[in-house]
Amino acid sequence: MPDSVRAVTVRDCPIGGPELVVMAGPCAVESREQIFAAAEKVAASGARFLRGGAFKVRTAPSTFQGLGLEGWRLLREAASANGLLTVSEIVAEEQIAEARRYVDLAQVGSRNMQNVPLLRALGRARMPVLLKRGFGCTIDEWLHAAEYVLAEGNEDLVLCERGIRTFEPATRFTLDVAAVAIAHRRLGLPVVVDPSHAAGQRDWVLPLTLSGVACGGDGLLIETHPDPAHALSDGPQAVVLAEFGALIEAARAVARAVGRSIPSAALAPVR
Ligand code: PEP
Ligand code: MN
Repeated sequence: MPDSVRAVTVRDCPIGGPELVVMAGPCAVESREQIFAAAEKVAASGARFLRGGAFKVRTAPSTFQGLGLEGWRLLREAASANGLLTVSEIVAEEQIAEARRYVDLAQVGSRNMQNVPLLRALGRARMPVLLKRGFGCTIDEWLHAAEYVLAEGNEDLVLCERGIRTFEPATRFTLDVAAVAIAHRRLGLPVVVDPSHAAGQRDWVLPLTLSGVACGGDGLLIETHPDPAHALSDGPQAVVLAEFGALIEAARAVARAVGRSIPSAALAPVR
């Protein structure tokens, strides 16, 4: 575990300690069946957070934009039933009050990394934040964005490396593994690695997951779906839910090799 990192505790879950925190679920909440299936499986595999977007920031307006508030309700319900916490993207300051009821860790998406009013508002709200790196942003710009949250007195901040745009088209983005160590050194904040958006295709999620653990990531943010062929967003990069357990098992072996661990399934308390 990088000794320069100060853990951030979200409810009862420390991020940045010896245990890696797995956050997993679909790109977007699509239905009750889908999110409950995902919650049950990821909890059984040792995840602590259920992910799922309800307000999606998609590249094209013609694509699925999320279920909105109903998506957050379903996310919370499925998470609670399986002893999981929730992580979901918040796209505007006006959503913060409502988000507190449903979201434990507020994700700021790659496309919003430099939305300064949103960063400041989340800082003032003292809500735990997961700040994804903008895919066209340098490490320096990412860490300066983080400072906007910290400057408002909110230290419950976790960073997320999710890949940057390079000249390489074989993957959707290029996972910048050095960014994990550099961010640790520069700000001492925990860093979660998102192999899914970097990979863009499920075949590359396993190797990027392993590299994310090996390079010192404090957690993983992984997209998984019960039926990726019919997913309404990011289907090609979604790990098939039935294969999720094996992926985490492989990550566990690397975690052990670097002196960390990934817990196995918690006995799910219903919150
Ligand atoms: C997501 O997590 O589904 C997402 C939209 O990620 P990013 O902001 O990194 O593209
Ligand atoms: Mn996605």
